[in-house]
Amino acid sequence: MNKEDLYIDGKWTPRQGPQTDVFSPVTRARVGSVPEATAGEVEAAVQAAAAAFPSWAATPAEERAALLNRLADLLEERRELFIDVIMMELGAPRQLVERVHVALPLAVLRSTARLARNFEFEETAGNSTIYREPIGVVAAITPWNYPLHQVTAKIAPALAAGCTTVLKPAELTPLTAYTFAEAVHDAGFPAGVFNLVSGPGSVIGEALSLHPQVDMVSFTGSGTVGRIVARDAAGTIKRVALELGGKSASLIADDVDGDFLAAAVTASVANAFLNSGQTCSAWTRLLVPASKYGEVKALAAAAARKFVPGQNLGPMISERQRERVREFMAQAEAEGFETITGGTGADIPETGWYVQPTIYGKVLPGSTLAQEEVFGPVLSVITYQDEDEAVEIANGTVFGLSGAVWAADDSHATALAKRLRTGQVDINGGRYNPLAPFGGFKQSGNGRELGKAGLEEFLEFKAVQR
Ligand code: NAP
Ligand code: MG
Repeated sequence: MNKEDLYIDGKWTPRQGPQTDVFSPVTRARVGSVPEATAGEVEAAVQAAAAAFPSWAATPAEERAALLNRLADLLEERRELFIDVIMMELGAPRQLVERVHVALPLAVLRSTARLARNFEFEETAGNSTIYREPIGVVAAITPWNYPLHQVTAKIAPALAAGCTTVLKPAELTPLTAYTFAEAVHDAGFPAGVFNLVSGPGSVIGEALSLHPQVDMVSFTGSGTVGRIVARDAAGTIKRVALELGGKSASLIADDVDGDFLAAAVTASVANAFLNSGQTCSAWTRLLVPASKYGEVKALAAAAARKFVPGQNLGPMISERQRERVREFMAQAEAEGFETITGGTGADIPETGWYVQPTIYGKVLPGSTLAQEEVFGPVLSVITYQDEDEAVEIANGTVFGLSGAVWAADDSHATALAKRLRTGQVDINGGRYNPLAPFGGFKQSGNGRELGKAGLEEFLEFKAVQR
């Protein structure tokens, strides 16, 4: 799948720069290529977005929502294509791609359209009318781990709000973004409201973060790059929304026993291994009462056995990422944590960038493994003596993105959830809700995506007094 043109100002524009190859993490073979945008092309994309802004901002929200629904229809029609492309460049197994990678963006597009239609863009407070107006040109910089969802979670609400957009997708998974851009084009959005420029983040992402005509950068990725983006954007006082990493805890209370305990452990293991652990909100720490450690260990090992690399568990995105994950594992083993299952010595398919799903036990809360985002299928089981300690451990990292609480009594669970310094908490397996604001406390970020908050992120206030 070779893409030769960038999408600028409503047209597929023949590239001026070189091509970059895209590889399959399953076969390691080259599967396509995309253009590396030049400085001139980035400039053209920003100019197109700036020129398109006034009329798109003035377009009734109803019409913007109708186009988002049209885009959702096209994604649905092209479902098989999206599944193929995501499987090809991310390497995730089909079932996961269908159920999460493609289903979630569809839900987000439709719910964002609905939100935009019902949103109060105008309200009254005393002698003021308060208008909510689009912030302007938005640069969306996205990672590779959920290549369609991350794009949709930014572009849909930005467009719904009346902003115009320039997308810089991750170099490792740009083909999904191109397939998305084709659908945007075919849906009939006005020229310039959406533009796509691919290429290295250190060049293209930097150009966008520095650009005086970009009003906001919406960024998802690592804290390291998030800091660079925030610094680059500071020169022009851009709004910067950062969605960064996590080290979320699943906290099992002392009153969870029997089948309930089995369900809690099984769900926690599945969450940690979702998308091969390449999920920023993954519950990568399982906090259990010390008295239940033996029981949890057996349950966790049994749950992990259902994840088979090359079958229902995909590889790491790249060789570099695989090396990084295995370094974390090697360090954990050197520190003497118990290997409950998996580990660096376990067999893995040799074709792709696989890692054996791994669970370490009695992991120290302050260790590297328990503090840093691994971004692979590696779960740390940590024991606690009492609930105060459990909460302290759960809150004891620089992150605060997600988490879970399991407790027999709902008010007890709610009280625990309230003590966690984190953007989301699922109680007793509470279902994922695409309308719930998603984002982090502390160094997990400073923005919220999805739902009403995700739309408001792209709006300014204007107060008019009479
Ligand atoms: P990343 O390096 O932070 O990249 C995210 C996006 O930023 C990519 O599009 C990247 O472009 C771009 N970028 C790189 N340097 C930039 C710069 N100087 N200015 C502006 N944009 C720039 O994340 P990653 O490579 O995808 O993954 C690295 C780590 O980030 C992972 O190991 C994981 O810990 C974390 N991560 C977190 C999330 C999350 O959702 N919270 C998602 C993915 C990764 P390139 O494509 O050229 O790199
Ligand atoms: Mg990178």
